[in-house]
Amino acid sequence: MLAQFNGLGNSQWGISANSWRQIYTGMIRAIALWGSELGWRGQRDWEKDFEQLQYQALKKCVNATHGSKIELISQIAGVESPRIALDAAQARLIGKLMRDTTALGDLIFDDGTGRNEEARREWDDFGQEYTVSPDGFTSVLTAIQSKAEVLKEEGHERISYGGRVENVEVPEVKLQAQADSKAEVWTEAINQAREFCKATGVYTDGSMKEDGMVGGGWYMEGGKRQGGVTLGKLAMVWDGEVCGVRGALEDAPSESNVLILSDSQAAIAAVKKAGRTGKARTNDLKVVIKGIRERQSRLGPNAVSFGWVKAHNELHGNEEADRLAKEATNLYLENPQITEGGLKQAWKRMRQEERRVKGAGMGRVVKWNRKARVTYVQCHTGKGNLQAWRHKIGKTDDPKCRKCGRYAETGKHIALVCTHAEDIGQRCSTWEDMDDRARWAKKEKDEKGFYTVDLVETFFSKIDLR
Ligand SMILES: [Zn+2]
Repeated sequence: MLAQFNGLGNSQWGISANSWRQIYTGMIRAIALWGSELGWRGQRDWEKDFEQLQYQALKKCVNATHGSKIELISQIAGVESPRIALDAAQARLIGKLMRDTTALGDLIFDDGTGRNEEARREWDDFGQEYTVSPDGFTSVLTAIQSKAEVLKEEGHERISYGGRVENVEVPEVKLQAQADSKAEVWTEAINQAREFCKATGVYTDGSMKEDGMVGGGWYMEGGKRQGGVTLGKLAMVWDGEVCGVRGALEDAPSESNVLILSDSQAAIAAVKKAGRTGKARTNDLKVVIKGIRERQSRLGPNAVSFGWVKAHNELHGNEEADRLAKEATNLYLENPQITEGGLKQAWKRMRQEERRVKGAGMGRVVKWNRKARVTYVQCHTGKGNLQAWRHKIGKTDDPKCRKCGRYAETGKHIALVCTHAEDIGQRCSTWEDMDDRARWAKKEKDEKGFYTVDLVETFFSKIDLR
C-alpha cells in the first residue's frame, strides 16, 4: 500500500511532511490497526510488521535518509509507538463494549469481574475461536484490564460495565435561587424544595486529586449520615459525582423521600437520561437507577428528586460533601473501578507521558521549518549530506568538516562540536540538551506582542550542509 503512495510525493516536491503524517495516522495506520484490537495471538509478529510499516511511512514525513533509526523517526514525526497505538485502539474498543456489553456476544462475560471463565473464548489470527490465549488472557478485555494495572497503585480495579436498566422518570426540582444568589437564599430555596417533596436533603459531590485519584462523597442535612468512596485513578470526576449519588441513596433512611442536592449538572442529566433511555453508561449509574426505582415502588413517584445547587457558594452541606469527596481520594482503595471515561482519560495520560519521556524532538520537530527539520534529522542520524557519511559510502575522499576543517564532519560534530556552530547561535552540548523543550525556547516581543522562538530550530535552519 505504501508503494502506491510513492508517486504522490518525495522529499523534493509534492506532499508536505505534515500531510504525510496525516495520511499515515489517518489512513495507513487505521487500516493496519483494523481488527488488531480483537486478536490477541501472534501480536509480537504483528508489532514487528507494524513497526516496519510505520518506519517506511514516517521516513517520508520527516524526509529522513535511508537507515535512520526506527525510534528516532517515530519520535521526530511525533507519532506514538505501535504498542501504544494498539493499546489505544483496544482501549477504544473496550470503551464501546463497556457501554453495550451485548456488542460482541460472549466474547466478554458480564459478571462484573472482567473474567471470561465461562466462555473461555479467544480469537486467533483467522478469527477462529480458541480456548485461552498463550498469555493466559481469556479475552481482550482481561488483557486490557491487566494492562490497566500498570496505572493502579493498589487494590483490584473492576471494570464498571454499563448496560440496560428499567425506564424510570427522575424528577428534577428547580430551586428558587440564582447562581449568584447568597448562601441564605439558597438555604431558603432548599428548605422550600424539601418541604414540597417531603424529603430528606442529601448533598453529593465528586472530586479528583492532582494525581488522578477520584472520590465521591455525600452529606445528609445536619450531618446525621455522611460518607465517601474512592474510585481509583481509572475514573473521571463525573464518576465520582455519580458514586456520591449512589452512596446517598444507599445511606438515606429507607422510609423517607430523598432530595439529592448535587452541584454537577452533568451528573443530574446523566441520571435522568439513563432513566429515560433505559441505558446506563456505568455500573454506579445502573445501581442509582435501580435504587430510584425501588424507592419509587415503595414510596411513590416523588421518592427521589434531584436539585442543582451552585458549587463553592458557602452552602454548608455542599462544602461538607466536597470535603468528604476530597477526603475519599486519600482513603484506602477498597474497591476501585475502571469506567469507560476513566480508561480513555488514563490512556490519554499515558500517551502524553510517552511523548514527554521519550521526547527526542518529538512533536516539536514536525512544527519546525523544512530546512531545520531536514538538517536536524541528518545530524541526529549521522546520515545524509555529511562529509563523514559521504566518505563512508565512497562519495568523497575527504571526511573532514567543510566549516572548520579540523575534525570528521559527523552530525554530532556539526551540531554539538564545530566552532562554526558557535557563530550561528546557541550551542548545545548534548542531544538531550537539544531536545529539552523548556531550555531552548525564548520569548521575544514585537509590535504584535510576545511570541516564542525555538532556539534549536533557529540553530538548525542556519546550518548549511552544502
Ligand atoms: Zn567543523
